[in-house]
Amino acid sequence: MKQIAWIITIFLLSSLIGTTASSTLQVGTGIADATGEVAQVNFMGYAMMNQVGAGLHQRLRARAYYIDDGTKHIAFVSVDFGMGSHVVKARALELLQQDNITKNIFTFDNVCVSGTHTHSGPAGFMNHLLFQVTSLGFQKATYEAYSTAIYNAVKKSYVNSKANGKNAVIKRNAGMLSNANINRSPTAYLYNPLEERERYGNNTDHEMVLLRFENEKGEGIGMLNWFSVHGTSMNNTNQLVSGDNKGYASYLFEKSKNAKDVLPGQGSFVAAFASTNLGDVSPNTNGTYCMDTGLPCEPVHSTCNGKNEMCVGRGPGTDMFESAKIIGERQYVKANEIYESANKIVSGPVDFRHTFIDMSNLTFTRNNSTGPDDVVHTCPGAMGYAFAAGTTDGPGMFNFVQSTTTSNPFWNAVSDLISKPTKAQINCHHPKPILLNVGELTKPYEWVSSVVPLQLFRIGDFFMINVPTEFTTMAGRRMRERLANEIMSLGLSKTPTVVIGGLSNMYGDYTTTFEEYQAQRYEGASTIFGPNELEGFIHEALRLVNDMATNSKSKTLPSPEIDLKKMINLLGDWKYDTVEIGKKFGDVTKQPSKTEYKKGETVSVSFRSANPRNNLKTDETYLTVEILDEKSNNWIVVATDGDWSTKFHWQRNGKLSHSSTATITWDISAEDVAGTYRIKHFNTHKKIFSGTKLDFEGTSNVFTVVG
Ligand code: ZN
Repeated sequence: MKQIAWIITIFLLSSLIGTTASSTLQVGTGIADATGEVAQVNFMGYAMMNQVGAGLHQRLRARAYYIDDGTKHIAFVSVDFGMGSHVVKARALELLQQDNITKNIFTFDNVCVSGTHTHSGPAGFMNHLLFQVTSLGFQKATYEAYSTAIYNAVKKSYVNSKANGKNAVIKRNAGMLSNANINRSPTAYLYNPLEERERYGNNTDHEMVLLRFENEKGEGIGMLNWFSVHGTSMNNTNQLVSGDNKGYASYLFEKSKNAKDVLPGQGSFVAAFASTNLGDVSPNTNGTYCMDTGLPCEPVHSTCNGKNEMCVGRGPGTDMFESAKIIGERQYVKANEIYESANKIVSGPVDFRHTFIDMSNLTFTRNNSTGPDDVVHTCPGAMGYAFAAGTTDGPGMFNFVQSTTTSNPFWNAVSDLISKPTKAQINCHHPKPILLNVGELTKPYEWVSSVVPLQLFRIGDFFMINVPTEFTTMAGRRMRERLANEIMSLGLSKTPTVVIGGLSNMYGDYTTTFEEYQAQRYEGASTIFGPNELEGFIHEALRLVNDMATNSKSKTLPSPEIDLKKMINLLGDWKYDTVEIGKKFGDVTKQPSKTEYKKGETVSVSFRSANPRNNLKTDETYLTVEILDEKSNNWIVVATDGDWSTKFHWQRNGKLSHSSTATITWDISAEDVAGTYRIKHFNTHKKIFSGTKLDFEGTSNVFTVVG
């Protein structure tokens, strides 16, 4: 008996040693402030001209994960912004290259920049014209803010990987979350073959796939997960910069893992809720209703009395802040549960492949299960009519495309450049009726991308296919399944996990299945490279898998050219700030309405302020909520503008006025302790004529919180 016990012990020990030996990974995590201009700049996502920033609810972050097997390394970055951008990635790589610590380590090939797809972040960071129309062009300050954040986060993750030791560990887990998403084009989903749909229980993916990162001491240093849901809990009336439901989930996760007094964005534990195949997936789980009648919308066209403007998705909260909170919380709770129970070790090798492909002109043989294989091709980019209708998460966008003269000066300047589609182009996109024939436009610069990136990451049995578009639920399932089969048949892995890194590296709109495309809802109309786009992407992804399996280089076109000198901007800079004669910047114009507050109440204070575009306050804050420490008589910061409980509203004191007001609100929660508090505001004003920038601050009267 004793001998058997020994044999078992030795066997167990050797298997443990085996695991450790094969998982010699160096991993690091890093977080950086990505908040761009929170005022005046249009938000990316809904393409609503009047949805411009008027303050900040929650700072945006870039979260990076560096993984190195001693031979090869990759960095995955999830950013609280609309989507990956080629110019932002290029600029971040340039900054990494200029830094002696990170020089010659990062390239287009081994870095992935994926957008969380929040629709409440500043726009103007993309080099393609179509995505600049509502932001009145390219916004340099916001572009720099995003790029610098990616650079900082990647650098931190790289530096931290050295400190985390040579035997760091990644663990994998997955779990089901069924009440945090809904299909917003269910009638298009029904176009997919019945037998295919029957293999899946739902018309959205409910699985959350997660990686847990530990240093070699076994301490948790980070979490990264993928779950399909749009960043559209905050609707197109929101004017406060926000990470939406995923930003809130990250905030909660990081708060729970970092020390209690650590302020948002300052802790070493990094938790990203990354985007994946969310193309047709909405967080508005109550479904769609008509704003005027309160009745459900007509389902096929998502209209109310024939009009799309009135039909919007709702819930699960009573307002958008509550909805974002609930959907974020549900993702956080599930992620925390599967993070805590994660135990499947992901070991090396680390590998990657990257290619730039011309999606406007890709010809390939399509495997046809029901007949002979056929040769098909993609088309130069074009938007269908349903694109103008928008979605039930944000109806009626791009209404300016209906006429050539609108209140949008940018559109007026460029609309007559639009070309008429040729017969071949019309046939190629059939049955999509072409509204905007953008793919063949290169003046004053490209309107949409033709050459797009596709990237494959590998960590042992874990594979990420990083796509530049919004794949729908079924499109994503097909991609994952086809890749997993190929990975197995080529012997790369017997039990691969494949995830889709959504909206990565560049933006090329949506990707539906061939069948969903026939329905021509918003997602099909926005599948800009035509009905065979998904098959084209799968064909190219399989090529990358093959290259990886045969250890060969992947063929690629050169990186698309970047010329920022050509970029148009009609918004212009903010020139100067003024304050009423005899008054000072930072003066309180509205004190707390009471001297004593109960938990659950909201405090509101207003200050004479200036345009926050003067100073992005990167890694700083526009506000603090402070409590008086009775013992030391010091004021301790308990909340900043990175907290969900605070809001910073900015408003000009008249339409053309250069004097402005900042209103700061703080929601007192049950966890806040009783005591004496004050609220402070920090900002920078710009002097008239000289343009000199001067910092100022303001402090409210003290008030107490009881109970
Ligand atoms: Zn989207």
